[in-house]
Amino acid sequence: MRKKVISLLVLALSLITLSACAGQSAADKDILTNSQDTNQIVWGVKNDTRLFGLMDIATGEVRGFDIDIARAITEKILGRDGNAIFVEVTSKTRIPLLKNGNIDAIIATMTITEERKKQVDFSDVYFDAGQSLLVANDSPIQGVEDLSADTTVLVVKGSTSAVNIREAAPDANILELENYAEAFTALQSGQGDAMTTDNAILLGMASENPNYHLVGGTFTEEPYGIAINKGQDDFRDAVNDALQEMHRDGTYDDIYNKWFPDDASGKVE
Ligand code: GLU
Repeated sequence: MRKKVISLLVLALSLITLSACAGQSAADKDILTNSQDTNQIVWGVKNDTRLFGLMDIATGEVRGFDIDIARAITEKILGRDGNAIFVEVTSKTRIPLLKNGNIDAIIATMTITEERKKQVDFSDVYFDAGQSLLVANDSPIQGVEDLSADTTVLVVKGSTSAVNIREAAPDANILELENYAEAFTALQSGQGDAMTTDNAILLGMASENPNYHLVGGTFTEEPYGIAINKGQDDFRDAVNDALQEMHRDGTYDDIYNKWFPDDASGKVE
């Protein structure tokens, strides 16, 4: 009888151990060690945001400031042969994808906020943006003060812009879209009177579409950080060390000047 109990206990214990191992999700792994083992870092990036992360359909490659910063950090951490892998995220999907372990880090026009810090850790700031408005050139809207109950503002789900605009223009109607490509298409087709998000993102759209321009300056501060899962301090430190080295050796300035040659407002010194 006693033997039976003991063997049952052993069985139960080994089952518990087994299930604990199986339950160790990708998100629980040590990201720095894992990236060194696999020689790659998987970055969550935007694919529809000119200047930061935009898919070039001709080459199938995603290009932008966030992409180049991610590549440079990958090289600093893993060496010249290290691979930067890019996975598309939107403002709404990026934190769930990180938490599920589908990506190692988010570098996707993401503002560091106290609310988000409850869920993820952030690197040091690597770009300074601020929220603004994009309107058609013939629009009477000059700034947030003109966003009355008769106007509709287009925003993207999961963005700080969607939260901030409700405070800045409490009377305006808000229409939430899935991503920035959809939001701009909605603006062009007249589903809204203005679109709002970070100035740098809107400048990317205006540069390609001369019938639209930014108005009213910026009405928030949006410091961008790289989001990393909680409990990955070694990886976060490695990312911050890489960023610091990039500031020292000129890599950061080179990348910044490549994407924003005429505008130093987003540059972090
Ligand atoms: N920087 C803002 C944010 O993190 C807007 C840009 C975006 O949606 O990624 O929410």
